[in-house]
Amino acid sequence: MSEKDKPTILLQHYLKKLKLPTMLREYASMASVCTDDRSDYPTYLLRLAERELLDRERKAAERRVKEARFPVIKTIDTFDFKAQPSINEPLVRELLGGEFIDKRENVLLIGNSGTGKTHLACAVAFAACMQGRRVRFSTVTGLVTELLESREDRTLQRFHRQLERQQLLVLDELGYVPFSKAGGELLFEVVSRAYERQSILVTTNLPFENWTEILGSERLTGALLDRLTHRVHILEANGESYRLKHAKKRASRTPNHIQPQT
Ligand code: ADP
Ligand code: MG
Repeated sequence: MSEKDKPTILLQHYLKKLKLPTMLREYASMASVCTDDRSDYPTYLLRLAERELLDRERKAAERRVKEARFPVIKTIDTFDFKAQPSINEPLVRELLGGEFIDKRENVLLIGNSGTGKTHLACAVAFAACMQGRRVRFSTVTGLVTELLESREDRTLQRFHRQLERQQLLVLDELGYVPFSKAGGELLFEVVSRAYERQSILVTTNLPFENWTEILGSERLTGALLDRLTHRVHILEANGESYRLKHAKKRASRTPNHIQPQT
């Protein structure tokens, strides 16, 4: 090693040790850029630090998106609000801001099949990932299957802890498949543990009064709805259905509590 190469080699070694891969990759090219525009030393360092930070944030966001297990990546840019005028666009925009997650509020997306519920759920959850929030996306059926399996394998507590590390749990498609009694109870456990600690976003084609059909027990459904709807934003993806209108009306009359249908 010549005396001339020594600082370079040491610098590369230190940048590696300090885990600054972007600085390591770019310090030389940035040096010639800064020489060309006669930037001072602080500007050179600033530009390098900015690159490092941006790369780091991008990688962290990519990691969060991967860990969220989205079925498909859908964002709000591709959602056509005009095609679905029943959707409360200002509320969607508000949810995209992610504050509801800081406030541990839940979201219920109710509507018939094909009205864009999964798309909107993905878009809201994706935005949350981009803001640095931890998200996990599951179909309700998928989650219940995982819960049943981990109970079988005696890893249920570990699985719960893994879920509890998330800030937003998306439970897509409640209502297509009824659960076994054990499945319903395990799902209730997730909702119950999340209460006031995490946000849950549920999409469903079922008005509240039909949830018992899926969850089996009326008592369990009542307790689950009670927790889920304590602080909830309701988005309807269907303006036509009378039953949904009815559910929404009831929800607006009793925002903090769901009452049995009379
Ligand atoms: P749901 O979950 O309500 O059954 P999806 O979100 O799966 O419906 O929507 C079905 C398909 O139609 C998806 O590919 C989705 O991206 C698309 N889609 C639905 N509504 C809209 C919309 N308003 N704008 C753009 N695409 C939409
Ligand atoms: Mg769907």
